[in-house]
Amino acid sequence: MNLYLKYRPKTIEELDLSGVRRILGEIVKANKTAHAYLLTGPRGSGKTSTARVLARIVNCERNGKKLGEPCNKCPACESILQGSALDVIEIDAASNRGIDDIRDLKEKIRLAPAYLRTKVYIIDEVHMLTTEAFNALLKTLEEPPSHSLFILCTTEAHKVPETIISRCVQIQFTKATPEEMKRSFERVIKGENATVEEGVLQFLSTAVDGSFRDGVKILDQAISHSRSVILDDLQEMVTGSRGYRVEKLLLAMIAKDGSLSLFELNGAIQGGVDLSYLLVSIMRGLRDKLIAGEVGVEITRLIFSLDEVARKLATSLDGEL
Ligand SMILES: [Zn+2]
Repeated sequence: MNLYLKYRPKTIEELDLSGVRRILGEIVKANKTAHAYLLTGPRGSGKTSTARVLARIVNCERNGKKLGEPCNKCPACESILQGSALDVIEIDAASNRGIDDIRDLKEKIRLAPAYLRTKVYIIDEVHMLTTEAFNALLKTLEEPPSHSLFILCTTEAHKVPETIISRCVQIQFTKATPEEMKRSFERVIKGENATVEEGVLQFLSTAVDGSFRDGVKILDQAISHSRSVILDDLQEMVTGSRGYRVEKLLLAMIAKDGSLSLFELNGAIQGGVDLSYLLVSIMRGLRDKLIAGEVGVEITRLIFSLDEVARKLATSLDGEL
C-alpha cells in the first residue's frame, strides 16, 4: 500500500490542517452536525479524508449518543474505512454528473440507513454536476431526511450555485503551511521507523507547495530507497537534478531578458529538472518577490498563466496516483 493511503488521516487529531481540526473538534463538542457541509479548497488538501472522518464521527458505535473521535475499530468504523459501508455513498460528480444519477440518489435518500446510524453522502468535485442535477440536489438539501448527512467537496467553490452553498456549512481548506506539512510528514516518518536528515522536511514542505499528497508521494519514494533520507537525495528526487537553483532563471525573467531566460530554461531542461517542479518554483519565486515588492503587479498576469499550466499538468498527472 502506498504511504499516502496508509497514512490518510483517520481521526480528527491526525487531520493535516489545524483550522479543520478545530472545526471538527467544535462539531464534536457541540454534539451536533449540520445536514450538509461544503468542503472547499485546493486538491490534495485533505477534503475527502476529512469527509470520511466525519462519516465515522457520526457513525462510530463506541461513541454512542455523544459524538467523538472515531474508534476506527468497531464494525461501523471498519466498514467505512474499508469502503464497504453501504450507508456511506461516495459519488464522483465528475463521472456521475447527470440527472439520472441524482434521481437515483434521491430515491436512495428516502430509504433509512440499513446498518449505520446516519447515511452519509460524499459528493466529490460537486461543481461538475449539471444544472438539472444541481436542482435535484437542491430539493434534497431543502428537505433533508433526518438520518442523512451530505458532504460536498469541491476544488472550485465559485462554480457551485449560491442556492446550494447557502444550505451548507462551509469548511474552507487552505493550502497547508510549512509547519502543518511538517507535522503530517513527521507522522509518516515515525510510523515507518525512518529518519530524515535536518532540512529534509523543510525543503519538502516548501517544494510541494501545500500538497500533502505530492509530499507523501515523494517521501514514499525516498523511504523505499533508504530509511535514512538524505537532503541531497531528496532534492534530486524533487528537482530531477542535484543542487539545481531556480534563482538565475527568475532573475532573467524579471529582467525581461528573453534570451537569457531561454538559455537558463534550456539548461534546466537539459539538466533533467522536473517540469512541474520548475513551474511551481517559478510561481513561488515570483509570488515571493511580488509580496516583497521586488517586482511590479504586472507580474500577476504571468503568475496566473503559469498557474493555469501547472493545474493542467497536475490534472494530467493525477491519473498516475
Ligand atoms: Zn468506531
